[in-house]
Amino acid sequence: MKTADVIVIGGGIAGASAAAEIAGGGARVLLLEMESQPGYHATGRSAAMYEPSEGAPVVRALTRASYSFLSRPPEGFVDVPLLSPRGVLMLAYAGDEKLIEEAKHNGYVAVDAAFARSKLPLAKLDDAIAILWDGEAQDIDVDALHVGRLRALRRAKGEVIADARVQRGARAGGVWRLDAGKEACEAPTIVLAAGAWSDQVAGSCGVAPVGLQPKRRSAAIIAGPAGISVNDWPEILPIDISFYCKPMGGKLMLSPAEEEPVEPHDAWADDLRLAEAAAGLERLVDMSVQRLERTWGGLRTFAPDGLPVVGFDPDAEGFFWLAGQGGYGIQTSPALSRLAAELIAGHEVPADLAREGLSPAPLSPGRFR
Ligand SMILES: Cc1cc2nc3c(=O)[nH]c(=O)nc-3n(C[C@H](O)[C@H](O)[C@H](O)COP(=O)(O)OP(=O)(O)OC[C@H]3O[C@@H](n4cnc5c(N)ncnc54)[C@H](O)[C@@H]3O)c2cc1C
Repeated sequence: MKTADVIVIGGGIAGASAAAEIAGGGARVLLLEMESQPGYHATGRSAAMYEPSEGAPVVRALTRASYSFLSRPPEGFVDVPLLSPRGVLMLAYAGDEKLIEEAKHNGYVAVDAAFARSKLPLAKLDDAIAILWDGEAQDIDVDALHVGRLRALRRAKGEVIADARVQRGARAGGVWRLDAGKEACEAPTIVLAAGAWSDQVAGSCGVAPVGLQPKRRSAAIIAGPAGISVNDWPEILPIDISFYCKPMGGKLMLSPAEEEPVEPHDAWADDLRLAEAAAGLERLVDMSVQRLERTWGGLRTFAPDGLPVVGFDPDAEGFFWLAGQGGYGIQTSPALSRLAAELIAGHEVPADLAREGLSPAPLSPGRFR
């Protein structure tokens, strides 16, 4: 039987970040991950973007509040920058007037064709009624962020156990006891950061679900136009987000940006949707997509109101939710994990998060009960 002060279930970016923050505060932390590799699911399959102009107001506040960590990680965290400049070029067409206003309200600025071509010389702009630019959008080095969190956890004497799928949990005598394959563990507090599986894991602990819905999103790597470096291209997308495309590892990542409701599973790509995305890209950029070099699918998991679920369950003592990050779980992970660590320690919302207007109530699982 292993004992800890806090057991975190799930080794993606949410669980790893929260575990590191909690252990950094002096608690003994155990992180249980069902796969042999933490980061195997949503965290390892993202578009790796930091986009402060995207999402609901609460998400944008969490993203802004995460910037200081991402731009200036703590001394010794990792030896590469976590952020690097990217930018997003968004094209709008007749009928998109309302979306244009919303995008401007959220931080996009209108630019002219010359500016757009300076960023993406092959852009086809003739039919666009507006060209919008988010110069604050950056690439996130997700591997470095995730590895840095796991290292910080180990430095703070936390333990990571892989191949440990939590199958059952029950509370008795003031502690949660979890059965996770070969491991049996006990702690007064557990943090549920199991991504798409969070409602299922709650159920196996006798805790009511909050109504999370995993949604599949497909992605592919394609080659850029022959003889042209795509490394400095911005992310490009139509304003209805019917697809998006961005540089990744010297090539291009393409996604149809679909939101297909599915059960939690090891997701794979929908090739038909990817073919539609390729056709969409060819309409916006003067290039032809010859083949999909590699494809994958990932699950973005949403609560009924689309906001993250962070806080103690009102009906299950010591049971803390950290789920429902949707499409923003990487870029919001610094703020969400600090918030989680402070709430678990019984503290107030940190001052910088409060200054962004963040408070526990809109994120609490209690809002679904
Ligand atoms: C195509 C795509 C593009 C995206 N782009 C972006 C982006 O640009 N920027 C951004 O911020 N976000 C993006 N996201 C969203 C982001 O990837 C997620 O919000 C984030 O990774 C969620 O992290 P997580 O740790 O909650 O989930 P996960 O990474 O899925 O981690 C959950 C972990 O829990 C483990 N687990 C599950 N059940 C159990 C159990 N019973 N016992 C033990 N362990 C268990 C799983 O194995 C998994 O490792 C994107 C997602 C996709 C799919």
